[in-house]
Amino acid sequence: MKIGIDIGGSHIGIGLIDDKGIIIDKEERYIINSSEKSTQLEIKQENLKQELEEFIINKINQYKQTIKIENVGIAVPGTVNKTTIIRAVNLDLENYNIAQILEEKTNVRVHLRNDAKCSALAELKYGNLKGYENGMFLCIGTGIGGAIVYNGKVLEAKNVPGYEFSHMIIQKNGIQCNCGKRGCFEAYSSIKRFKEKIAKEFCLDNLNNNYIKEFIINNLNDVRLRYIISQYIENLAIGISNLINIFEPEIIVFGGGFVDYSDILLEPLKQQILTTNLLFNKRDDIILKLAKLGNDAGIIGASLNDKTPIFNE
Ligand SMILES: [Zn+2]
Repeated sequence: MKIGIDIGGSHIGIGLIDDKGIIIDKEERYIINSSEKSTQLEIKQENLKQELEEFIINKINQYKQTIKIENVGIAVPGTVNKTTIIRAVNLDLENYNIAQILEEKTNVRVHLRNDAKCSALAELKYGNLKGYENGMFLCIGTGIGGAIVYNGKVLEAKNVPGYEFSHMIIQKNGIQCNCGKRGCFEAYSSIKRFKEKIAKEFCLDNLNNNYIKEFIINNLNDVRLRYIISQYIENLAIGISNLINIFEPEIIVFGGGFVDYSDILLEPLKQQILTTNLLFNKRDDIILKLAKLGNDAGIIGASLNDKTPIFNE
């Protein structure tokens, strides 16, 4: 058995995974700041490292009592090497040697990988990227994570993960991004940004996906709302078309909070990409699909270790 851990921008999930990639058991916590209402089941942003370590160590030690654990993998929304979170801008973490800390407390091998690369590995092995030689995975949520499948392998750079699509600049002197640069793709096109724009325009104080989605469905005739949606799709299409022009994927698979809005956003996005003169090589169609494994892709992908045959050496 393996343990997969997915540290997201707003939540953490830990799961026990069998050899077929099936989650046998799973537990989740939301990451909140001190102004939000708390129950016992949340992790506070202000105390992130300590509460994160406690949650993970307790869970590993609990599983270890009855099951032999081969390895623990962690999916991280940011730049990592095998043992250290070098920088995760949306969690405000830097040079955090989490693998060593966890290994010392649990005596189990722990390895890290960028979350979008984990999800792409899982979708390639068990999900909607399976069977494609050339594809792309985009996790659009708090930020935007990305991965490229080329010749059936998930590409990673040597010392850091690379393929940071979210921080390509799509607007000169544009909006400030959490990474410190201006005009980044994710500063315009993350689902967080999409929700914040709607909440600000209509004075909503709830950013819950179900709430915002219901608001959209009930107000689709509102001109201001339609403008926000069309602007969002335009920006998303610019970023994605840049990537299509570079990598020419056969398929793009989407994960993250974007999935919750896909029946509103996916078809207009496809039309925007195909019909507005964004593509260098014209296409009649592009396959856009949602992650088959949904929010579990990160946990399952994190559990795939270096010995997994599809791992890109
Ligand atoms: Zn950025």
